[in-house]
Amino acid sequence: MLPTPLHLIDGRRTPAADGRTFPVVNPADGQTISEVPLGGAAEARAAIEGAASAFPGWRDLPAHERARPLRALAEAMVRDQQRLAHLMTLEQGKPLAEARGEILYAASFLEWSAEEARRICGQVIPASSVEKRIVVLRQPVGVCLAITPWNFPAAMITRKVGPALACGCTMIVKPAEQTPLSALAIGELAMQVGIPQGVLNIITGDAPQIAAACFADPRVRKVTFTGSTDVGRVLVRQAADNLQRLTLELGGHAPFIVFEDADIDAALAGVMASKFRNSGQTCICANRLLVHRSIIEPFTARLAEHMRALKVGAGLEPGVTVGPLIDDAAVEKVESHVADAVERGAVVRVGGSRAMGTAMRCFLPTLLERCTPEMRCWCEETFGPVLPVASFETEDQAVAMANDTPYGLAAYFYTRDASRLMRVAERLEFGVIGANDALPSTAQAPFGGMKQSGWGREGGAFAIDAYTEIKYMSWRL
Ligand code: NAP
Repeated sequence: MLPTPLHLIDGRRTPAADGRTFPVVNPADGQTISEVPLGGAAEARAAIEGAASAFPGWRDLPAHERARPLRALAEAMVRDQQRLAHLMTLEQGKPLAEARGEILYAASFLEWSAEEARRICGQVIPASSVEKRIVVLRQPVGVCLAITPWNFPAAMITRKVGPALACGCTMIVKPAEQTPLSALAIGELAMQVGIPQGVLNIITGDAPQIAAACFADPRVRKVTFTGSTDVGRVLVRQAADNLQRLTLELGGHAPFIVFEDADIDAALAGVMASKFRNSGQTCICANRLLVHRSIIEPFTARLAEHMRALKVGAGLEPGVTVGPLIDDAAVEKVESHVADAVERGAVVRVGGSRAMGTAMRCFLPTLLERCTPEMRCWCEETFGPVLPVASFETEDQAVAMANDTPYGLAAYFYTRDASRLMRVAERLEFGVIGANDALPSTAQAPFGGMKQSGWGREGGAFAIDAYTEIKYMSWRL
């Protein structure tokens, strides 16, 4: 067992007030890896005190001084990449190579934010009277709460911490119960590189209690959440009393369209990268494959070959490309989606069941053909390595099928026709469009969803909007 890490509250490493802990389990073998503090309302209140006391000092620092420890944290994560990646694979299950990649990706948000800190500017707007000037100021929102999911245990934290701290906000982070170790390890590095006391607080434990304590305190001015649409709705209701601002990065249900004029090799590589990364437990991963009727047979035949070549197993095993799902409930959900599809007439071309004799909770990469809109896998986020396929005949039909969902996070399409490329990109109702590109996420892009995939954008200069208040001064000379 790894030693029990402690909360980071107001610059101190602290256990839960009542000493309670909860286990962190390796999804590959079901073994307990560590215990972490079981925090609740008391820890949330202590973290709010710390973050509120630290806020004026942090806000008033020159931007380049706020940038320095952020950059140092990014560098520390890169230096510690191997250890952090190993810890992530232990608690989350993803293949080690992917975990290494996530540490670099996570560090890139801190690095980018450190640079952006210097460019958070106001504006002077010409007034309608010669005697007046309109001066626009951008100021930090204040104390923020970040609630993060388990699928990207490091990147979903730094995507919030980076811009929040760059803007001069202070933050409390509540990671998912399945992956608290990566969060607390980042907190430990933050202490080592000198992020000042109270500026970054990390508490693990009872999510509803921690969230309720933060929503009840009007000093918490913003809540930023990445997770499921259902929990997002709960948070919207809780924010009503104190009208705290919300950024919501919620579920997705990405269509992946392959037009008849696509570069087929590129489209195949794209589907594989988008669908099977993190065993399909990615909010932007391809959830529905739409292939033009004229190429569906040869395309799915080649896709099936690629899928059979994937290696399923524990994330620490060399060569594994598809790791276990996060917990038993996740495997049961994937199984139920496959069973429902088969019952309604889908045909299993590859996979279709749990993997036998490998790590626990592994599900075989699964290709489902002849899928129809009423199947659960075609209308809900599966969050597993299952790819349902259907055909279309016209561009209009493909776009209508793609948009036929309450979600609007990511969509992909492959074509070599430049006019079609622009036309389709404009008509897809999704916040992130991968046009001949299956890996669109990057620190400088404005990531986020439409419809029930959320509110607001994270990443790039757009993230600054989430953590700043805009104030204008009408100035009579
Ligand atoms: P989840 O169940 O919504 O949990 C996310 C976070 O919310 C966890 O920290 C969880 O804490 C917390 N939480 C749960 N109930 C809460 C409550 N009543 N009040 C306050 N916080 C609460 O989602 P998940 O299963 O971890 O993540 C998968 C979902 O996240 C998928 O739908 C995926 O698409 C979405 N996601 C979206 C993006 C994006 O950028 N749009 C990125 C990644 C993932 P506990 O773990 O302690 O319960």
